Amino acid sequence: MKRQFTILFLCAALFAKAQINQAFYHGIVANVSYDTVLYNLQKLQAFGIKQPGTAALTNTKNWLIGKYQQYGYSNIVSDNFTYGANTLTNIVVTKTGDLYPNTFLIVDGHYDTKTGTGTNDNGSGVAIILEIARLLANVNTQFSIKFINFSAEESGLIGSDDYVTNISTPQNLDIRLVFNIDEVGGVAGQTNNTVSCESDQSAPTANNAVSALFTDTLAQATAVYSGLSTIITNAYGSDYVPFQQAGEIITGFYETNESTYVHGSGDNLAHLDTSYVVEIAKASTGAALFLARAYDVYTATRIEAQKHSLNVYPNPFRDQITIENTSDEIYTYIIYGIDGKKICSQQISPATQSLSNMADLSAGFYILNVMDERGGVLERMKLIKNK
Ligand SMILES: [Zn+2]
Repeated sequence: MKRQFTILFLCAALFAKAQINQAFYHGIVANVSYDTVLYNLQKLQAFGIKQPGTAALTNTKNWLIGKYQQYGYSNIVSDNFTYGANTLTNIVVTKTGDLYPNTFLIVDGHYDTKTGTGTNDNGSGVAIILEIARLLANVNTQFSIKFINFSAEESGLIGSDDYVTNISTPQNLDIRLVFNIDEVGGVAGQTNNTVSCESDQSAPTANNAVSALFTDTLAQATAVYSGLSTIITNAYGSDYVPFQQAGEIITGFYETNESTYVHGSGDNLAHLDTSYVVEIAKASTGAALFLARAYDVYTATRIEAQKHSLNVYPNPFRDQITIENTSDEIYTYIIYGIDGKKICSQQISPATQSLSNMADLSAGFYILNVMDERGGVLERMKLIKNK
């Protein structure tokens, strides 16, 4: 089973290579905000030392949940676990994909700290994840995304280990990739022009080649969407490790100039490089868009299929619409409002028809996209609902 998946992923990674550089993605990455990143770093620093059992950790948790709510997310889960005398919380925010709702890109970074305020380790990663979540909130993606802020990383990967042991493994969660962002602040006063892209170089080794491919994709996205150079390094010592040990595919960002202040009282804004964090936010946003297969509902490239044959009727419609697949291929159709928000989606098998009940929708224009199994758009048409 695992081996078959590996081959599929290899094909997908190769097939997709040319599409990393997309104007639609550049338009979104251009909205990465220096001021927002700086504000969030200041805020995370001001909460103080975020060790298990501290009010600072709880206040940070509540602030993060409020942030995701403010950005428009509604699927926000506090996954609680016990560590010593304390109940701690992993924050899990899910954004559902249009085409592969049960396959997840995990973008994660821990929000607890050691003996300092942890503005670099890992305020930098958390501020970047917030920025990705802010910018992707209203973007359609084919794959689902989970933004996860783990707790008790500094105590020994306790939060991520709990998540893998008690949630993702028992639920058999279909994880496309774990993209971990931890300690990416750089060093004030140094030239911070390179980021380390981390690949799985440890046992179990079954997924190492696929991790190397995704890490290469991460490096390519960094070149396209930021001004940073990249080096490939070994992934170790952060929240991707429990996933890696469970056989999942991982990658990550880590600062190349390593701060000597992390885990101490000097881990603050004065000792990191905010511009470097912003560049990594750009690289991360571009990479997340590509890895989750974000797409523009209106301008998704139509591809030619040899045998595709679909009938959609009636149009204009009133209460229901029939979509008939007379081909021998599996298609998925998605209906969007004119604001780009998904209304419904349905997979449609060869030689069958699907009836969508549209009675509850208000009159007006809608968009129907029909996609093949790779997510290529076969048909796009305007639907009109009459009163
Ligand atoms: Zn860290």
